[in-house]
Amino acid sequence: METKILKENQVAEAAKIIADGGLVAFPTETVYGLGADALNAEAVAKVYEAKGRPSDNPMIVHIARASDIGQLTPMLSSTIVALIDNFWPGPLTLVVKRKDGVPDRTTGGLDTVGVRMPDSKLALELINRAGCPIAAPSANLSGKPSPTRVQDVIEDLNGKVDAILEGPDCRVGIESTVLDVTGDVPTILRPGVITAEHIEAAIGRKVAIDPALHIDPTAEESDEEFAPKSPGMKYKHYAPKADMTIIEGSRDRVQAEIQRLKVLNERLGNKVGVILFEEQAFIEAAHDFFANLRDLDREGVDLILAGALSDTDGVGFAVMNRMLKSAGYNIVRV
Ligand code: AMP
Ligand code: MG
Repeated sequence: METKILKENQVAEAAKIIADGGLVAFPTETVYGLGADALNAEAVAKVYEAKGRPSDNPMIVHIARASDIGQLTPMLSSTIVALIDNFWPGPLTLVVKRKDGVPDRTTGGLDTVGVRMPDSKLALELINRAGCPIAAPSANLSGKPSPTRVQDVIEDLNGKVDAILEGPDCRVGIESTVLDVTGDVPTILRPGVITAEHIEAAIGRKVAIDPALHIDPTAEESDEEFAPKSPGMKYKHYAPKADMTIIEGSRDRVQAEIQRLKVLNERLGNKVGVILFEEQAFIEAAHDFFANLRDLDREGVDLILAGALSDTDGVGFAVMNRMLKSAGYNIVRV
């Protein structure tokens, strides 16, 4: 398949492709998404195929007006309305009960649907012009780092999708916070730059964190259901080609250990890349993390040494969630 690379002023052409059941990768403020008409099961099936994504992994449905959420869910609680008022447009996905018209293909067979209104102007224009909600997971091949720049998307999806809409680099750099609001207590299923603290301040209620976010699925003592059947396979997401190790500890020790391991490995003929963010610079870390992984892969490094971020619940925690998966939970404590 020939993939058209479209410029911002060709958004109408991109929208027509979506409306006709095709696939278009497009920028949002979080990462690039691979979009299809969310209500067209055949179109959505092609997204799974292009990405090589397991079909039980649900997609986020993107809308251009907050009021369009009513097409997708039958029940808007006061909490949901408060979340929409405070955080949309923006990087917060709400998991809500789905209406019957939302295909199983889009929700991975679940009776809930993830919905978000992005704040990227280009994304909003694309959705508006397409005239349908757009289902879009990240526009990478399944298992690879998420794409935050158009060249990352081209690298993974050229020849596999109808078009790639070229826009600016993504402002946020990691995927949206996913918040389940179907139960009694709103629960974060995936951390992002909108944190539990932000959400609690907005709705005046306690927010829970899915306990799975605090579990190392590769640890021997973790539950049976988390036990890896094939370590480094089942749990590797966002994975660079290079081997990756996280170094965790006090700043001084982390820096020293990274330096020590770098010298050691280079002496033995390995090309080593380092990811070490400024202390407390969590927003910058979110912005740069996936781009750094992809750049290091392009440079052909064999080993990536990454310094852990010291944050247990904020934006740094969201970056660490990606970093741990990228490294297959390979971590050295110093
Ligand atoms: P991606 O943006 O590629 O990571 O894909 C979307 C992610 O959103 C999925 O991996 C899920 O973690 C989450 N998601 C979307 N819809 C739902 C849902 N109905 N229930 C739980 N999680 C969801
Ligand atoms: Mg993804």
